[in-house]
Amino acid sequence: MNATLLQLAYLAAAASFILALKWLSAVPTARRGVLVGVLGMILAIGGTLLSPEIVSYRFIAVAFVLGTVIGVPMAMMPMTAVPQRTALSHAFGALAAALVGTAEYYLRAEGLSRFTMGALALEVLLGFLTFTASLMAFGKLQELLPTRPMTYPFQNVVNLAILGAAVALAVYLVVRPGQMALFPVMALLSLVFGVLLILPIGGADMPTVISLLNSYAGLSAAAMGFVLDNKLLIIAGSLDGSSGFILSIIMCRAMNRSFANVLFGAFGQVQAQAARAEQRTVRSATPEEAASILDAAASVMVVPGYGMAVAQAQHKVRELADLLGKRGVNVRFAIHPVAGRMPGHMNVLLAEADVAYDRLLEMDDANSELPQTDVSLVIGANDVTNPAARHDKSSPVYGMPIIDVDKARTVMVIKRSMNPGFAGIDNELYYMDKTLMLFGDAKAFVTSLVKELSGSA
Ligand code: NAP
Repeated sequence: MNATLLQLAYLAAAASFILALKWLSAVPTARRGVLVGVLGMILAIGGTLLSPEIVSYRFIAVAFVLGTVIGVPMAMMPMTAVPQRTALSHAFGALAAALVGTAEYYLRAEGLSRFTMGALALEVLLGFLTFTASLMAFGKLQELLPTRPMTYPFQNVVNLAILGAAVALAVYLVVRPGQMALFPVMALLSLVFGVLLILPIGGADMPTVISLLNSYAGLSAAAMGFVLDNKLLIIAGSLDGSSGFILSIIMCRAMNRSFANVLFGAFGQVQAQAARAEQRTVRSATPEEAASILDAAASVMVVPGYGMAVAQAQHKVRELADLLGKRGVNVRFAIHPVAGRMPGHMNVLLAEADVAYDRLLEMDDANSELPQTDVSLVIGANDVTNPAARHDKSSPVYGMPIIDVDKARTVMVIKRSMNPGFAGIDNELYYMDKTLMLFGDAKAFVTSLVKELSGSA
């Protein structure tokens, strides 16, 4: 492939990535977005493989086999494990960028301009720290490591000192790229910083941290683009970096938290103290009772959460909605931006179950409908419905925007027990007079509701 064709392939790939992001941001065009993203990747990889700069395909073949052996099982991880899967792919992407940077340094150390060395130092710093931080995030989410924040005195000072030392070495190497002995020290400090950065962050904040790490991995790849003089890497890395950053901002806003609070707030610790629930009574109902309440309602707002995802109840939930719809009940779904374990989690599950998009309401629209709604049916959602977020200043979820399910005339909550959700705190919704607890696995309970309603048709 000649150089002009290669640049054209890269240009088409860059345009595909931009279109993919655009189309992925709306449900009706999301599939097209995935396809054009794949096409962009084929153009980028295909173009690179056919480029005249390739000296030998032997190592590429080895890398291809290795990547496939790791990538195929990763692609099979369940939907509920997407955050940890994403953490692993960031770890590998960041490691690749850091290793390319390391190789370039040892190949060209003496001849590097200040600008290129600056980009290379950034690439390696961000690459190595993202590698270990992403592995730690994976470990916490997969519960291979303790999920509670691990703290010790002067933790932030120690962490900042290590990062500061790594950055100082990077700056020194920009001025004197020939000081090869310092390079491994800088790399080691970034690796250690990645581990220490994640220690004080609780499992509950991992999805936000992962999308921040996504942004670091993207920046590292963009820096690599400057080192290798590859414009496609600069574009793709910048898109990755900025989209990861925007996603973290969206998540922080939806939880009413700041970046500093997520990164340094040791959020899970506060929850551990707050989790001491007092003994209060709750009312529960059987599937039969719940089905008759739903049948008598004119409007029902379904509020899905992480429990629906774990139970894989979305198909049964759609059946329930269809049955109620046929009986003249107006059924809608309220989607909280951080319900589940990643933004859009509920949209993906409901789309998979063929729930019509126009039945889905965003949080603000759902909240304006809820005071006029007969029943809010919460299915495996907890934190995103906790009224304490509106008024209890001592609650760790205070200020987080919630779905106002308690404003409906009757509230029904499907969950297995009185156990808390991700934030580890009790939910006062369950003790309200208008609330009925429907104890059981989400799929099993909704299946019973469907049976009750179809039996009484
Ligand atoms: P949640 O607060 O974690 O609650 C999920 C509930 O589902 C649990 O209380 C659990 O209760 C129940 N459950 C689990 N398995 C179930 C099953 N098989 N059947 C029925 N119920 C089941 O979930 P959420 O309301 O969706 O809130 C999301 C949380 O994740 C928030 O705290 C949010 O801040 C956090 N988060 C989300 C994102 C994101 O992007 N989505 C990012 C960062 C943080 P039982 O054990 O009693 O069944």
